[in-house]
Amino acid sequence: MARYTDSVCRLCRREGLKLYLKGERCYSPKCAVDKRPYPPGQHGQGRHRSSEYGSQLREKQKARRYYGVLEKQFQSYYEKASRRQGVTGENLLQVLESRLDNTVYRLGFAASRAEARQFVCHGHFLVNGQRVDIPSYLVKAGDVIGIREKIQQSPRMKELLENAQSRTVPAWLQLDANVPNGQVVRLPAREEIDTPVTEQMIVEYYSR
Ligand code: SF4
Repeated sequence: MARYTDSVCRLCRREGLKLYLKGERCYSPKCAVDKRPYPPGQHGQGRHRSSEYGSQLREKQKARRYYGVLEKQFQSYYEKASRRQGVTGENLLQVLESRLDNTVYRLGFAASRAEARQFVCHGHFLVNGQRVDIPSYLVKAGDVIGIREKIQQSPRMKELLENAQSRTVPAWLQLDANVPNGQVVRLPAREEIDTPVTEQMIVEYYSR
């Protein structure tokens, strides 16, 4: 399974905003966007001109990097979203939000999407009682996401579950930190997704 292995802080600096790819570090003064708020590379501090195409490309890259999805899969999500009824851009964000790794992160069972992806790959989570180790698995309304008993006892998961008690979970999910598990109440509406992207520009990018 292909995945991005270079520095993720470079991605945030390239997009000019925090994408929260590193968990706790993103909230500390060590964050690279705070320390070096300009694009990476030799010419990062030079002048930049942006075309309409350039802006659309940046919006697409931002969304892709935010969810940790590679180009080919992102494109297939776009095609899936455009086949669904409704607004394509909103459908795209809904598909991305319903990835299992994102849902695990949103429930507070991981500090970042990257950590959630790793946990899922290691088979730490159950969907409706069945072990699922595919981060791109798309959850549906009514699905219950649980944590394998053995993993609940690990120091890292105990720490995460403690923090999850005080975490605000989006309204489309319901967290029961005592069991612990989380339920997908419904698929998210656009106003329930706080991803900092203008999805219409992504649609324009793929419609060129
Ligand atoms: Fe991005 Fe987090 Fe790195 Fe800051 S610390 S640049 S938010 S990944």
